[in-house]
Amino acid sequence: MTVRTRIAPSPTGDPHVGTAYVALFNLCFARQHGGQFILRIEDTDQTRSTDESEQDILRALRWLGLDWDEGPDVGGPHGPYRQSERKDSYAQYAHDLVDKGHAFYCFRTPEELDQIREERKAQGLNPGIKGDLELPAEEVQRRLAAGEPHVIRMKVPDEGTCVIQDMLRGQIEIDWAQVDCQILLKSDGMPTYHLANVVDDHAMGITHVLRGEEWINSAPKHKLLYAYFGWDMPELCHLPLLRNPDKSKLSKRKNPTSINFYERMGFLPEAVINYLGRMGWSMPDEREKFSVAEMIEHFDIQRVSLGGPIFDVEKLRWLNGQWLRDDVSDDEFVARLKDWWFREDALRDLLPHVKGRTEVFSDVAPMAAFMFSGMLDLAPEQFAHNKLEEGQVKRVLQFALWKLEAQRHWSKETIFADIKGLAKAMDLKMGDFMFPIFVAIAGTPNSWSVMDSMALLGPDMTRARLRHALNLLGGFSKKETKRVEKEFAAL
Ligand code: GLU
Repeated sequence: MTVRTRIAPSPTGDPHVGTAYVALFNLCFARQHGGQFILRIEDTDQTRSTDESEQDILRALRWLGLDWDEGPDVGGPHGPYRQSERKDSYAQYAHDLVDKGHAFYCFRTPEELDQIREERKAQGLNPGIKGDLELPAEEVQRRLAAGEPHVIRMKVPDEGTCVIQDMLRGQIEIDWAQVDCQILLKSDGMPTYHLANVVDDHAMGITHVLRGEEWINSAPKHKLLYAYFGWDMPELCHLPLLRNPDKSKLSKRKNPTSINFYERMGFLPEAVINYLGRMGWSMPDEREKFSVAEMIEHFDIQRVSLGGPIFDVEKLRWLNGQWLRDDVSDDEFVARLKDWWFREDALRDLLPHVKGRTEVFSDVAPMAAFMFSGMLDLAPEQFAHNKLEEGQVKRVLQFALWKLEAQRHWSKETIFADIKGLAKAMDLKMGDFMFPIFVAIAGTPNSWSVMDSMALLGPDMTRARLRHALNLLGGFSKKETKRVEKEFAAL
């Protein structure tokens, strides 16, 4: 048997370090067994998936030095590797399950389902969506003939226990009572993740599924689907989730999570991927610095420890310094720094802002330094403003941060709309509102349009600087945060 593993990102946002981490472990596992590693794009959620995000994910994984044997950009014998291009095949599988009695048509609206859940809860029953929602055959035919909107749901046992065999965790038991009759085909005819994922893992000959532990609860549904289809299930391995230094699940609210951020900060890709290799795993000799090739050579999935690995940017910085000093020659240092600093496209983006303000080239570095920096060296006094009290300054930064955390389309226009809306809601003049933002992002109120700077710096760097400024001003206590959250919600 040839080992085949895959990474299956959904292109719905920035390239996440967690995706790179899971990709790395899948790559190492496959290579160590002389097998293949596949990249598949799971873009069945058409409202959230974008081409831009897909391009960004592929580019970021390549920047880290990861490569795949089959994928949307390199092709392969099991293509297409983008689920939106395979969508016609899924409906047939769902209908086959209906014909075999393993799935049923469901005509309930989300509101009706909420009501059913409430009623069941009130009666002390399991509020799950179960097979008792299936209608008699004639009724189904009548509704289908009348063209009523519907989904297809898989049938799931009401009781008993599902046992999942996990490569790291051994047996995991999950009560069927906790598992809903999952939707397989949505009312628009598109498959859900569960159906498409199982169908494609089978079609692509995937033998081992290494993925994040957040998918454990999906495993019973998948196991049942494999059984319904009569297919062998791949081995499952749920990797521990990456965590913030405070042990909570790694989230962009607390830590930069986009690979793009680390590239922009000037990290070396070999150090970032090395650090990801140390998430829950270590070399037999415990050495801290190693390449992907060395990791493959010594890889053993059983050495993954389940205690939540902490993704700590400070430790990553330290490791990066080690790489830079030990493994990058002077010539290479110059070449790579030049590549990072004087990237032609980045300079061109800055040109419209810089050219009109420049008399001699030596003017450029001081005014544009913040575009090539990490966190700025600021003092709290720089935020003092005669129209804003300190509490307001902090609110401006906090509200802008929350607003921009929720922004999925990063552009000058969307940032402007967010900021303008907030200033209005807070009843502040745009100029006053913008002051703390300028200082947080550019280090001075006398820079070019800060909306342009934020657009160019990208979401993670922007958020990191707003967070940094807020921390510098002492942030909000737990109690204050509650109040401020309420104020924000009321805006
Ligand atoms: N598309 C899923 C994700 O975005 C894949 C999960 C899996 O590996 O099964 O993480």
